[in-house]
Amino acid sequence: RRYNFCAGPAALPDEVLKQAASEMLDYNGRGLSVMEMSHRSKEYVAIAETAEQDLRDLLDISDDYAVLFLQGGASQQFAMVPMNLMGENGVADYVNTGEWSSRGIKEARRYGRVNVAASTEDVRFTTVPAQDSWQLTPGASYVHYTPNETIGGLEYDFIPQVDAPLVADYSSSILSRPLDVSRFGLIYAGAQKNIGPAGICVVIVRKDLLGRAGPHVPTMLDYKVQADNGSMYNTPPTYAWYLSGLVFKWLKQQGGMPAMEALNLRKAGKLYDYIDGSGFYSNPVEKRYRSIMNVPFVLADAALDKTFLAEADQAGLLNLAGHRSVGGMRASIYNAVPEAAVDALIAFMKDFVQRHG
Ligand code: PLP
Repeated sequence: RRYNFCAGPAALPDEVLKQAASEMLDYNGRGLSVMEMSHRSKEYVAIAETAEQDLRDLLDISDDYAVLFLQGGASQQFAMVPMNLMGENGVADYVNTGEWSSRGIKEARRYGRVNVAASTEDVRFTTVPAQDSWQLTPGASYVHYTPNETIGGLEYDFIPQVDAPLVADYSSSILSRPLDVSRFGLIYAGAQKNIGPAGICVVIVRKDLLGRAGPHVPTMLDYKVQADNGSMYNTPPTYAWYLSGLVFKWLKQQGGMPAMEALNLRKAGKLYDYIDGSGFYSNPVEKRYRSIMNVPFVLADAALDKTFLAEADQAGLLNLAGHRSVGGMRASIYNAVPEAAVDALIAFMKDFVQRHG
């Protein structure tokens, strides 16, 4: 196994992959793989329900919320959120802090009126707009923001205080630390970063927000239909759901959210400290808003980028290229990336400066 810093699909815990491999041909003495089970079977329903309960335990999600396991990724939520929550002639407030919020805004505009309540585009998304500067719409259907911008490496250090239901794209930071779900109307997160394999998206939605979809919303895209059917209106991504459940168990074994937070702060802290002190690498994000999951950085000389990536790959440090839209480097250090991987990366970066700096 090499160290994988991919932003997504991302590293999964060794323990989870080993368990999955060991039961690939024979799950629990049943003589078949989970992949081959009916989603309506007693065994599979137990797997699905356990996964949901473990997620509820990890984030302390109350019964006021439905937990859905859907397809279509976070990008489909960019559409499902307005389809379900905007209402006829409604207005939704969006905060723009980078590439992913921009995409959410673009998609929502297909369904109704969007007010961009705040944006940090003018400073190249290197900071989060202070809440008192947000131009919120009285009576808005909801307020949408992106707590962690995966590409820019920008993370809110607060949960916005708003009157309308708060909607958050937690794709790249869910489960990285404790989260007060009760502050939100809806949270969504594509799985392939901190939850499990690609192909599934977790939606946590307050039950009073169900049943607001207009008549033309496709059945499959109506949160209420999915909630009423336990996310099994049709065949769900059964295996991705199962592996997500194994990750939830693994997180519980690690000590849950408080333990992950301590570890993640340590991992990110040492990487940023090294970058800031190096005189060769740099990160442009205002310090208090630096992501603890995605750490972008650039080299003093961009002509060395290719060499850096090739040598890192050779050293067993995979997928360090920044997003194709911004270039540079990015180390995604999700839960399943061990602290030893961060130590190895820092050692490599130091060595690289000595040889090329
Ligand atoms: N939102 C954020 C914050 C992301 O990081 C990503 C993917 O990287 C997406 C949305 C899109 O996710 P998906 O590929 O699941 O549609």
